[in-house]
Amino acid sequence: MKEDIWANTRPGELDEEPSSDRSPLLDAKVMMVDDEPMMTDLIQAYLEDAGYANFIVANNPLEALALLRSEAPDLLLLDLMMPLMSGFELLDRIRADRKLRYTPVIVLTAATDANSKLRALQLGATDFLSKPVDESELVLRVRNTLAFHEYHNRMSNFDAVTRLPNQRLFDRGIDEMVARRDLVGGMVALFSIDVPECQLLRQSMDQASADRLSKAIARRLERFASAAHSGSALATSNERAPRVARLGSAQFGLVLEGLADAEAVEGTAHRVLAVLSEPVALGLHEVAPKPWIGISVAPADGDNAEVLRKGADLAATHGREQGTLQFQFASPELNARSYEKLTLGLQLRGAAQRGELRLHYQPKLDVASNRIVGAEALVRWQHPDRGLVPPAQFIALAEEIGLIGAIGDWVLDRACHDAAEWARNGLGEIKIAVNVAKPQFLTGDLYGALRQVLLHSGLSARQLVIELTESMLMNDASASLALMHELKALGVALSIDDFGTGYSSLSYLKRFPVDELKIDRSFVMDLPGGKTDTAIVRTVIDLGHSLDMAVTAEGVETIEQLDCLKQLGCDIYQGFLFSRPVPMAEFAGLLSRSIGLGLPRSLLHSNQPP
Ligand code: C2E
Ligand code: MG
Ligand code: MG
Repeated sequence: MKEDIWANTRPGELDEEPSSDRSPLLDAKVMMVDDEPMMTDLIQAYLEDAGYANFIVANNPLEALALLRSEAPDLLLLDLMMPLMSGFELLDRIRADRKLRYTPVIVLTAATDANSKLRALQLGATDFLSKPVDESELVLRVRNTLAFHEYHNRMSNFDAVTRLPNQRLFDRGIDEMVARRDLVGGMVALFSIDVPECQLLRQSMDQASADRLSKAIARRLERFASAAHSGSALATSNERAPRVARLGSAQFGLVLEGLADAEAVEGTAHRVLAVLSEPVALGLHEVAPKPWIGISVAPADGDNAEVLRKGADLAATHGREQGTLQFQFASPELNARSYEKLTLGLQLRGAAQRGELRLHYQPKLDVASNRIVGAEALVRWQHPDRGLVPPAQFIALAEEIGLIGAIGDWVLDRACHDAAEWARNGLGEIKIAVNVAKPQFLTGDLYGALRQVLLHSGLSARQLVIELTESMLMNDASASLALMHELKALGVALSIDDFGTGYSSLSYLKRFPVDELKIDRSFVMDLPGGKTDTAIVRTVIDLGHSLDMAVTAEGVETIEQLDCLKQLGCDIYQGFLFSRPVPMAEFAGLLSRSIGLGLPRSLLHSNQPP
């Protein structure tokens, strides 16, 4: 009923007609502008008798325009003769205002004044009402005007079958979202969704079946959009822009705002696909839609509805022609990225079973004696075409697609078996450090996995160090604290990796049962020249020592850095200066030289892959 008539499109309301006898028109917001309070009182009383309850009154025409803009009434009753500003002038301004242009206006004028009527008509008045006002005439004119306006809105803004907003209304919603992007933040993503089955069904069965499918798709999209919206920052606002639309016989639109990054957009596309692909029951038949989605985002692909829609449509068509992915971005960069990720993700699945993972070891040395006291296990992926892929390129992906558990288990198993073997071969009980990802630590059964692997490998628990990153611990410090105590009970050591890059709370740090702090490489890099970094490194070393933790510096590349660390009292170092991460056999060689032994024959050959 409002200028922004999408207020009506509450999901659920759409398939049934309103159940009560009360006309929804009575909920209309009626505004009156007349300099005579007696007049507005009278009209309000008449309309209240007829069942209307929503009124805005302006007796000062100078305030009327602002009030009109903020209240967006469904109907305006406007007096033509007012002292401060005439009704004509106000009408003129209303028709020139982008937002108010289509508001229906009934003008109040003396019955005999033909010229005024003509002029008001020219200015776009919708109807007339003679003064003095007759009650039944008033009620009828108001009802008819509202009914016509509502019908007109329905016809020109909504699809008759699904009762979804049409493209026209949808575009307005998109533009509104783009305009308030600064306020809401994030990206606006437009999904142009082709459901070819809507068309196929019409050809192979009948129009009625096609319509039923279209309606089912419409309801699913509406539910999806309102769930997405209720989880957003805007959920409490009363914003009503349409988020779902029917754009063609087999094409739908979805627009969402506040999406943080390309990842979020991609995740949404996946979920939309999942929701829409569920089979739809059509009498005796069942249809499983296979939609195609084209996606454009603002601001990257454009800043208005038309451009964004074109981009998304084109992407949907393109995606369908290529037939590789069920969704496609309008922008080539996002597309390449998403395609690359999908391919890599598919290939990563099963990499451990296929024996494509490798574990390299980087020595950790005692700063004072320069002897190897431990090693950090670092995973690599021997990709069939790409060669050795570093962890930075697949660990985060593995976390995202739920593969980190399998990879983490493999790493743990491999590292513990290797270290146990070094010990058995007389290379000493050096400490082996294993990196653990956030999902492994926070949601997996790390305790159980560690118990198992210690049991099977025969490695002594005191040889195992678990590296947890600072940011992962501080994210949920109290949960981390409990989990850390659990792990400590097994007898393993705990280390905080990349220390200095997260935001440690000192009160937690002193309660964490941690054995080692690893100073992040970014601070070591500028030693000894960088004054600030030197001060930071010194502080971390002192902090670690005062909390009874050993301090390790990672990424040591030069002898000057090492000398500086020695002066600052650092305990252990690791870096390219001594060695890069190397395969198992090579590491065993370094280790045996470090402790002055010959290399046992059994370790001469790398035992990887398993
Ligand atoms: P990290 O745990 O901080 O590991 C240290 C990284 O610094 C390693 O990179 C290592 O090769 C590199 N590095 C060591 N010394 C130097 C140096 O002197 N100069 C330079 N420029 N770099 C040095 P890598 O092996 O590429 O691993 C990167 C990150 O991937 C690791 O950072 C760790 O967060 C993660 N990662 C590696 N393996 C695993 C794993 O098995 N599980 C999990 N969850 N994450 C892993
Ligand atoms: Mg590490
Ligand atoms: Mg690190």
